[in-house]
Amino acid sequence: MSKFVRQIETVQQRTQKLSESASLEPSLQSDLLVQAFEELQIALEELKVAEEELREQNEQLVCAHHLIEQERQRYLDLFNFAPDCYLVTDIDGKILEANCAAAKLFQVPQNYLKNKVLINFVPEQYRRSFRTQLTKLRQIDHLQEWEIQLQKRDGNYFDAAISVTTVNIASSSFKWRWLVRDITARKQAEAQIRTIESENSYLQETARLKSQFMAMVSHELRTPMHAILGFAQLLMRQPYHLLSPQLKNMVERIICNAKNLLTLIEDILDFSTLEAGRLDLKLQEFNLAELVQAVTEELSSLTLQKNLSLNFQVELPNPLITNDRNRLRQILVNIISNAIKFTYTGSVSVEVQALPENRIAMIVRDTGIGIAKADLQNIFQEFQQVNQSFNRRHGGTGLGLAIVDKLVRLMQGSISVESQLGDGSTFRVEIPVRVLRQ
Ligand code: ADP
Repeated sequence: MSKFVRQIETVQQRTQKLSESASLEPSLQSDLLVQAFEELQIALEELKVAEEELREQNEQLVCAHHLIEQERQRYLDLFNFAPDCYLVTDIDGKILEANCAAAKLFQVPQNYLKNKVLINFVPEQYRRSFRTQLTKLRQIDHLQEWEIQLQKRDGNYFDAAISVTTVNIASSSFKWRWLVRDITARKQAEAQIRTIESENSYLQETARLKSQFMAMVSHELRTPMHAILGFAQLLMRQPYHLLSPQLKNMVERIICNAKNLLTLIEDILDFSTLEAGRLDLKLQEFNLAELVQAVTEELSSLTLQKNLSLNFQVELPNPLITNDRNRLRQILVNIISNAIKFTYTGSVSVEVQALPENRIAMIVRDTGIGIAKADLQNIFQEFQQVNQSFNRRHGGTGLGLAIVDKLVRLMQGSISVESQLGDGSTFRVEIPVRVLRQ
């Protein structure tokens, strides 16, 4: 632009000079006319160039203006249609701009917000703290996630998280840009989590008390049960003439039922102690091959009654392991006697193998009734019996596998089962060769 002004000035100066010379010396007028004509032509050309440049500059200016307008519109759209509520206020909190989300959040028409003070949307009881924050904001120039309750036009409160930034810091009339988010849902979820957590700890405490109570009750029941069983067994040993066949039959029933009850009490006691995390393994070194042999021999009488074959195979380079012998025995007895209980024809086999990383697998296979896929995931839960009517006939409490599962975990091991209804089951227990004290 200044170049163009300079060019006009030059033409003006030349014209000025020309007219001065013409007025001073009239004799030179024809020469001057020619000179003036040339000067005029040069000036015209220069003016043309200047005009061209001016036009070009004008076009650039229009283009730049257009771009600025586009950018402004883009910013306005972004501001207006942002999913979050944005407001721009002066430093007294008077709203200068508000987007659509703001209008929606406060449930007012968008133009209603303009020139209102933001404090209007703060409930009475929070206004003091709001003012204090405004004063603070003047010094700290931004604020992150300030949580406060705000009020919609219909009077309903909502939890809001506010972030404020100062804009136009350089100018004297700086403003604040507010991002206001409705966090009611988050607050409700947090409150729900707190309730669930407190309920959870209440339930945990109840479960602990329940286990403690069960352990105590079953412990107290065990002692008199042992006495009943002991005395009934003493009665059985009485000379034949003192005990009629009828009485003998009754005593046999007492013994049988007392044994069942004692097993149940022992199971409940074990389960409660395990659940309360109070069972300690008594670790010792022993021969696993010998244990497996002893257990299978002990249970072979059950297979004989049902005409099943029971065999075992231990393939360990070194059968010496460190574990709680009685508890491992309990696991084996449980799984093998289940296999016998749920098998009518065929066989039950026990296999012990060495695994990598100093672990061993104990596998019990049967050709019994099998377990439906849907029931497989539940059988390690306490009191879970797949076929209720079958179990009523064959007894059992549904605690056996739950105890086994907890014991195996305590031994830093795992238990799994593969089965198909009508096609037998395979239980697999994996434990470390040496269980470590915890
Ligand atoms: P229970 O005292 O009833 O045997 P368990 O916890 O030992 O309780 O077993 C839970 C349920 O799992 C059993 O009632 C039975 O339905 C099923 N189950 C366990 N072992 C076998 C198996 N070898 N074959 C088929 N079903 C089995």
